[in-house]
Amino acid sequence: MRPGPGGRVESGQTERVIRTHSAIVLKAVPYAEGGAVVSFLSELGERLTGVAKGVKKPTAKWVAAFEPLSMVRVSFFGKEQAELKRVTRCELSFSPLTLGHLESSLVMACLADLFDRVARESIEDDRLYRLLSACGRALKADPDNALGILAYAEHWLLHCMGLLPHPRVCGQCGNDSAAIVLLSPEVGWCCASCTPVDPLEALPPGTREHLRRLRTGGAEVAPRVDPTDAAQTAVSAILRARLLHELGGGLRSYEVLWRTV
Ligand SMILES: [Zn+2]
Repeated sequence: MRPGPGGRVESGQTERVIRTHSAIVLKAVPYAEGGAVVSFLSELGERLTGVAKGVKKPTAKWVAAFEPLSMVRVSFFGKEQAELKRVTRCELSFSPLTLGHLESSLVMACLADLFDRVARESIEDDRLYRLLSACGRALKADPDNALGILAYAEHWLLHCMGLLPHPRVCGQCGNDSAAIVLLSPEVGWCCASCTPVDPLEALPPGTREHLRRLRTGGAEVAPRVDPTDAAQTAVSAILRARLLHELGGGLRSYEVLWRTV
């Protein structure tokens, strides 16, 4: 059978099609006989999956194409509505991997895990693709800032999920100058003038400024992790906890990351 014009292949009643996408590899899970079920984030921000058949002698190029966060051109073949299509081609166009940089590799696995959970089949959200490709490029350019880039991605993922209210004004009283002391699941960021909080539990001074840095800069200028910056430490921790809670927890890549760094 040969694909006709437009990549369509006629075979009796069932019509099979070849579709090619620019996409980012998320996860590859081993499948029968050396193959893998691979998930991707398409340029339109939709989660796609396909079976990559095992190859007898996998070339380095074939293997590299399925590394998490690889940017690829991938072709799927199968029935339009079929659950699992076959991956017929997957060509690497950009890899954010820095060989020998463990922290960056571990963060790439975390990002792949996060986006694999957030992206949905048949639901397009191109912000997800823009965010993940920006993070991949930033990781390649500055692998030493992997943890800063991860915190940046977590912040914007919460935003994409509609779970991160704007920090400019207090979600409770509208005050735009008093210090932010709390993130409430119901009303968002709350300020010191309307919300009494034990000073030991309040978010540190500088919280609003740190949030502004995350919002206004790109992934390539994601704030570097600075353990002496109390506002950054606190904001990263609450946003990460919120995101992982929302995703149901249990992301293995995170366990590996914290065991290692
Ligand atoms: Zn307030």
